[in-house]
Amino acid sequence: MIRFDHVTKTYPRSTRPALFDVSITIDRGEFVFIVGPSGSGKSTVLRLALREEQATSGAVLVAGQDLGRLPLRKVPRLRRDIGTVFQDFRLLGNKNVFQNVAFALQVLGKSGHYIRQVVPETLELVGLDGKAKRMPHELSGGEQQRVAIARAVVNRPSILLCDEPTGNLDPAISLDIVHLLDRINQTGTTIVMATHDDDIVNDMRRRVVELSDGVVVRDEEDSLYLPKG
Ligand code: ADP
Ligand code: ADP
Repeated sequence: MIRFDHVTKTYPRSTRPALFDVSITIDRGEFVFIVGPSGSGKSTVLRLALREEQATSGAVLVAGQDLGRLPLRKVPRLRRDIGTVFQDFRLLGNKNVFQNVAFALQVLGKSGHYIRQVVPETLELVGLDGKAKRMPHELSGGEQQRVAIARAVVNRPSILLCDEPTGNLDPAISLDIVHLLDRINQTGTTIVMATHDDDIVNDMRRRVVELSDGVVVRDEEDSLYLPKG
């Protein structure tokens, strides 16, 4: 579903690569944590998969497409198949919960009939039934992140990329959020989550790809945050 083949990324005017010779293969339906300290390259992995950035060398393949050869006009279609969730929620502050989620479908030209059916189903999936008319500022951080997750998955993307989605949340709320992501993963969505929250990684025991200064230093199934031994 996502493959990095000897990917090096050096940002313009930067002397040191943000990623160096990174090879990762993520299969359909996997749940993968990308861990490592700030500046280790986690966000760069996600930006390359979204084609917000391009690899300096090596190949990035997402959903069967080689992003180095993907014409710009095909980038929107690629991104339609990838949901994104960020630390800072990024909700539209002047729209209520329903409208925030509906907006993701409106921009795809979906009918009002379809939207009125699918948005409530999605709000129920994320545990927000009954909150459709609340404004973002009336919600807790955990609830706001649930809205962001609903918006990210409402058009059923095959991939969900999460960049520190629990970075602004208390530990207990963070676990709720990652358990929600786990439920979404169980519906078949491939999930890649960048985090430096060791409690979450240790609770979940999923595949862990660890970056250090842009290099993969560990790639283990069913793993803890810290290397064993
Ligand atoms: P992380 O998500 O693990 O914090 P990043 O992928 O954001 O790491 O950053 C990896 C490295 O690349 C860091 O040294 C960061 O300063 C650098 N970097 C990130 N984005 C840019 C950019 N747009 N221009 C130059 N350097 C960048
Ligand atoms: P994160 O919180 O995911 O680690 P960063 O704080 O590294 O993200 O980056 C936030 C934004 O700043 C990104 O758009 C990134 O491209 C940009 N950025 C990060 N580091 C640099 C840098 N050294 N030079 C220029 N832009 C950077």
